Amino acid sequence: MRLADKVALVTGAASGIGREAVLLFAREGASVIAVDIDDVGGRETVAAAESEGGHAHFVAADISQDEACRQMVEESERIYGRLHVLFNNAGVMLGDDGDSQATAESVWDQTMNINAKGVFLGCKHGIPALRRAGGGSIINTASFVAVLGAATPQIAYTASKGAVLSMTRELAVIHARENIRANALCPGPLRTKLLMDFLDTEEKRQRRLVHVPMGRFGEASEMAKAALFLASDESSYLTGSTFVVDGGITAAYVTPE
Ligand code: NAD
Repeated sequence: MRLADKVALVTGAASGIGREAVLLFAREGASVIAVDIDDVGGRETVAAAESEGGHAHFVAADISQDEACRQMVEESERIYGRLHVLFNNAGVMLGDDGDSQATAESVWDQTMNINAKGVFLGCKHGIPALRRAGGGSIINTASFVAVLGAATPQIAYTASKGAVLSMTRELAVIHARENIRANALCPGPLRTKLLMDFLDTEEKRQRRLVHVPMGRFGEASEMAKAALFLASDESSYLTGSTFVVDGGITAAYVTPE
């Protein structure tokens, strides 16, 4: 088991990458605190993990709120005693996020509050717990749009993921000698609700796939496997990385026919 005796906190656990990560981490021996604003979906994730014999506990929290983040970390230590893995994964891509002219200030604020401030708050409260455990691994979900211009404009989302990527590098450098690693998982476009809601026509989906050498969307389960590597001691010499898992998008100039 690759996460035996570890305690992991996963945000965005009600769906997509977060749900798959809770299930996989629990299968690999971790006790998992599953955090989400969506009570129903979060509890479903925990029930699924438990039905496979795993240990998981749901905590309802809005990760854009300081007090909620303090409480989710407190719950981890109260229930499982320690915290070793902090997977700041929750995020939103709002449907009315567009180019700089079309995007409302409220869309910018909401996106930054969840995607960027949520990661900051997770670290603010999570790092003291990782220290108390003698060290650990932080995984922050950024995106391929943090390293490449998006073909479909989504300016608030793109800026928020750039913030996650640069924040993660700083976290890695500042905390390296405390035995705390921090890496940014940068998924390519995935066949999850978040992206399929945003690319809501077949034309938009095909437009995005033009850029993917593999010619398909990724799966949330493929991101969970990457997160498992980053969470486990197998990645013990890896910190500050831009860990791109994207079907080859960032390697391509022209994609094959
Ligand atoms: P998803 O919509 O399936 O899951 C996101 C989860 O975050 C949901 O369960 C939602 O309830 C939760 N959430 C939203 N706001 C929250 C808040 N304020 N507090 C707590 N939980 C909240 O999406 P996903 O594709 O699994 O996305 C996970 C992460 O991956 C996000 O950060 C997203 O930006 C990133 N990402 C996704 C893609 C993609 O193509 N789907 C690509 C690159 C990066």
